[in-house]
Amino acid sequence: MQLPREVIVGKGTLSRVTEVAQRLGLSGSAMIITGQKSCEIAGKKVRDLLEQTGMTVGTLLVEKVTFSDILKVEERIKAWKPRVLIGVGGGTKIDAAKLSSARQGIPFISVPTTLSHDGIASPLASVKGLAKPYSIMAQAPLAIIADTDVIAQAPWRSVISGCGDVISKFTAVKDWRLAHAEKNEYYGEYAASLALMSTKLVIQNSKLIQHGNDEGLRVLLEALISCGVAMSIAGSSRPCSGSEHLFSHALDMVNCPHAMHGEQCGVGSVLTAYLHKTNWKRIRNTLQQIGAPTTASELGVKDEDVVKALEMAATIRPERYTILHKLNLSREACEKVAKITGIIS
Ligand SMILES: [Zn+2]
Repeated sequence: MQLPREVIVGKGTLSRVTEVAQRLGLSGSAMIITGQKSCEIAGKKVRDLLEQTGMTVGTLLVEKVTFSDILKVEERIKAWKPRVLIGVGGGTKIDAAKLSSARQGIPFISVPTTLSHDGIASPLASVKGLAKPYSIMAQAPLAIIADTDVIAQAPWRSVISGCGDVISKFTAVKDWRLAHAEKNEYYGEYAASLALMSTKLVIQNSKLIQHGNDEGLRVLLEALISCGVAMSIAGSSRPCSGSEHLFSHALDMVNCPHAMHGEQCGVGSVLTAYLHKTNWKRIRNTLQQIGAPTTASELGVKDEDVVKALEMAATIRPERYTILHKLNLSREACEKVAKITGIIS
């Protein structure tokens, strides 16, 4: 089990990167993986602060995370030999730092500039262009430095996506319990409780999650970090990724370009909560309250794409038993569920 050793959350916490590096005994050289925009917002400051302590810091700009991009980052790691990688940015940059550092056997620090999904603290990375559309195991961050002043500058839609990703753990945990009960799959109560607690916190505090409310951002940030820790404890994405994530992956395959990951998972969770015969209306109402999509048109996809995605979702990951595998729904049944829950008209 790998867990972060330092988690620093709040306003202006970026400036504490030097203190974190010192406490972790990091000296010599560091490499920052970031994007153009994230570099301006936070990457440059991280570099300047670390250089003031005498560290040598290189910056590598990445835009995509395909497997060949990861290999390019690894070539730079081999050439520069940094002691630590620092991912500064949204999901893509952090995933690039996470996976390349894991493959090269060095630690990485996560400095998120958006809150669009739980990858900021999880040990898993999402890579495009692989046979599997879902995340693969990499490593947990050694430290997380999340500055809410930096995060507040990101588009509001990324916050909504992050909320959707957290809320969707409600059905992920239901699926995990189902797999334990019916397929004798390993189930960890602690990891499941941690993921569920994150969902509850976001649902209970959904009124705080609005523009300019630092407290609301903090609730979401802590919930996303707890989800990452839950995955580290479970040793897989199980507590945080069930049938609703399979629906989102399927939607990516039937409709591209598509909505944000957490927005799709939120809608997926409404559908699969209905299938679990649980309180799907509470999930839908919370999503509506924070301004997240709850219909196909709000996701920017056609009604038939939602039905197709729901039908094919179980085939994406046959080994990950969920309510969709259990029910094995026909196209007509998928359409009925999408209509009853109001996702399609
Ligand atoms: Zn997710």
